[in-house]
Amino acid sequence: MALNRKLMLLAVSCAFASVATAGTVRDTGDSVYKPTGKGWGELDLDAQTHAQKAATLKAQRTANLTLQSGPVMTAPKNVYYIWYGANWDAASKNVLTNAGQNIGGSPYFNINSTYYDHAGTHVQNVVTYAGTATDNGSLGTQLSDVNIQTIVSNAIGSGALPSDTNGIYFVMTDKNTTATSGFCTQYCGWHTNATIGGKDIKYSFVGNPETQCPAGCGASTPSPNNTPGADAMASIFAHELEEATTDPDGNAWYALSNGMENGDKCAWNFGTTSTASNGAKYNQTFGTMKYLIQQNWTLLPAQACAQHYP
Ligand SMILES: [Zn+2]
Repeated sequence: MALNRKLMLLAVSCAFASVATAGTVRDTGDSVYKPTGKGWGELDLDAQTHAQKAATLKAQRTANLTLQSGPVMTAPKNVYYIWYGANWDAASKNVLTNAGQNIGGSPYFNINSTYYDHAGTHVQNVVTYAGTATDNGSLGTQLSDVNIQTIVSNAIGSGALPSDTNGIYFVMTDKNTTATSGFCTQYCGWHTNATIGGKDIKYSFVGNPETQCPAGCGASTPSPNNTPGADAMASIFAHELEEATTDPDGNAWYALSNGMENGDKCAWNFGTTSTASNGAKYNQTFGTMKYLIQQNWTLLPAQACAQHYP
């Protein structure tokens, strides 16, 4: 997979209700992406007018995903976290760790089992939380895309994490760290791949919007676990994980007409929610913890956003 096949989002979305208020869920709209040569992401803000966006989204939701020439991660996947930055607290890390440990095998992640590769092999609903590394902020708080790849490369090169082509490496940044190519203004996270150590390594940036853009990239106020940054990141993590699974190198499952991947199709759509004791909306339970996680695009029984499969 050539590095120049990385894809970037152009336009953004989801500003129909750009300010989350108490007890509300921002569930309007979708994300608009176009391939231009950088990473795929989960986007937020919007340069279009509401009328323009409404017309765009209506057209995009009708575009089905099709399998292009590339590989699909059908085998059990290994998730690795790299905790980046010096401002992580235990409660926030626990919310994300629990999500990584329990999303595999869930009815929610089983949506991805409707996807298959060119041999007809379907994605297995197996995700193993396989390791973590810590980088207390070696490259500062303003990360370029190159910096983020370097953080992954360093974690593998140092031996902190294994070199794993069935792995997906998530750079989880703390609330004081930003990504200079557009965190909060163009995206909330993204995934891509690169040749690192001679292998095709899949990795993702998941930004922490707690203080930088709680309305733009956060999902709800209050949040299910009273950790607003991590609770928001859990949905972004799910989005990028399911996209990396079905379109790891940016050349498998996406909509030809607009470049959208499965997570993009359902970004900020949460479906049916329940209310937790703290007043937070949630729609998934992983392990014993509640989350508000965006829906994902299923291929069965018909292409649509769904909360679970079957
Ligand atoms: Zn996406």
